[in-house]
Amino acid sequence: MAPDQQPGESETLAHDDLREGRAPWIHPDVPRFVAPRESLTCDVAVVGAGITGSLVAEHLSARGLNVVLIDREQASHGSTAASTAMLQWEIDRSLVELTELHGFERAVRAYRLSLAAVAGLRGLINGLGLACAFRPRSTLYLAAGAAGPDDIAAEFALRRRAGLPGRHLDFGALRRSFDIDRAAAILSPGSAEADPMALAGGLTGIAAGRGVRRIAGDARDFDATDRMVHIGLADGHEIEARHAVLATGYVMPDVVSSALHTVTSTFAIATRPQSPARLWRDRVLIWEASQVYHYLRTTADDRIIIGGGDEPYGDQDRRIGEAAGKHAALRAMLSAFWPRAHGDIAFAWSGAFGQTADGLPLIGPVPGRRRILAAYGYGGNGITFSFLASRMIGAMIAGDAAPWHEDFALDRDRPR
Ligand SMILES: Cc1cc2nc3c(=O)[nH]c(=O)nc-3n(C[C@H](O)[C@H](O)[C@H](O)COP(=O)(O)OP(=O)(O)OC[C@H]3O[C@@H](n4cnc5c(N)ncnc54)[C@H](O)[C@@H]3O)c2cc1C
Repeated sequence: MAPDQQPGESETLAHDDLREGRAPWIHPDVPRFVAPRESLTCDVAVVGAGITGSLVAEHLSARGLNVVLIDREQASHGSTAASTAMLQWEIDRSLVELTELHGFERAVRAYRLSLAAVAGLRGLINGLGLACAFRPRSTLYLAAGAAGPDDIAAEFALRRRAGLPGRHLDFGALRRSFDIDRAAAILSPGSAEADPMALAGGLTGIAAGRGVRRIAGDARDFDATDRMVHIGLADGHEIEARHAVLATGYVMPDVVSSALHTVTSTFAIATRPQSPARLWRDRVLIWEASQVYHYLRTTADDRIIIGGGDEPYGDQDRRIGEAAGKHAALRAMLSAFWPRAHGDIAFAWSGAFGQTADGLPLIGPVPGRRRILAAYGYGGNGITFSFLASRMIGAMIAGDAAPWHEDFALDRDRPR
């Protein structure tokens, strides 16, 4: 083992490391969920204990509700364990694209909500004192591929019109400030990074401390009346709740469907720790403006993570088959983009996430079953939108639905 190598890291990018793999996050020491001994009743049953379910459970328990949190596997070992956890307010779709899809007013509203969500997440983490390697970071949005300097300038102009924070950098300014050779960029404050497993585990622990029951179970059947929801677990037990919240990541139960939702496979690698002097200025979060984009961040222990290579999800076998090539391409991309870093790869992994055809998440009541609320399709902004979902769902359960909630409705029309 190399001197700076951690247990579980690989010396080289061997085939075995390229299976589903694992990310460099420390798996939190969270008590396992327990199978129920009897059927249960509660105010809200949250199905799925990834980052979304954890945020929902924490928020609802803070509001004094009696919550049951259910997961069929180990909590926060779904997409959350694979997340590179760049907590960005900039949405996968640029403001220009989102404006074309939804009009300026609605697109700006989504961007502002996202900006407020990252600030809200920061306040929550600080308020609860969660140890999750949370660090405020600026982002650098780079010209790449077909997205050249004119596209960056147009995006910047629209963001300025919307009152969003940021600074335009031309080729010279980008080179002077960051030593990066790209035609242009937008430098924006207000984003952050974290360890997603520590964050989800910490939230679940806080929720448990407030009495949230953590139940191991596979939720199979959902039966909703005007007054209650009955959830049938695979082991035969039943949970009766006033509301159910579906936060099952990229796997949607049959009771919910959306013509907008698609699942994407994505790939990432992390280096062994670098000398801090070899990392870029301010450790900004870096992402590219191109349709098929790459992104980079650093970690609290000085690794570089680079991700991208997204593909439509075929199945897990296909993703595993593609992983070796995708990881090698990411490694080549890293050495071309930031040659002063060493390219010793310690972790290589892949995962799936849900996204939508119109760039906005799906949050709200399941059509025809208003007591079942769902939160899906976040794209690369998963964690930011998970926070937004937890607040929207809290308001909806309290009877405080707002007109703008409709922007995220599950039965909204496909964009033309
Ligand atoms: C490689 C990769 C990189 C990413 N990078 C970023 C990033 O930089 N920034 C960002 O914000 N987002 C990123 N994302 C997206 C983000 O990670 C996801 O949006 C987020 O983790 C989704 O969390 P979740 O809780 O909704 O789903 P999950 O974490 O998948 O959790 C769902 C849980 O539901 C449980 N479950 C499913 N079905 C049932 C059932 N029937 N009964 C009981 N339990 C059930 C599962 O066991 C699982 O634990 C990335 C994703 C991947 C894969």
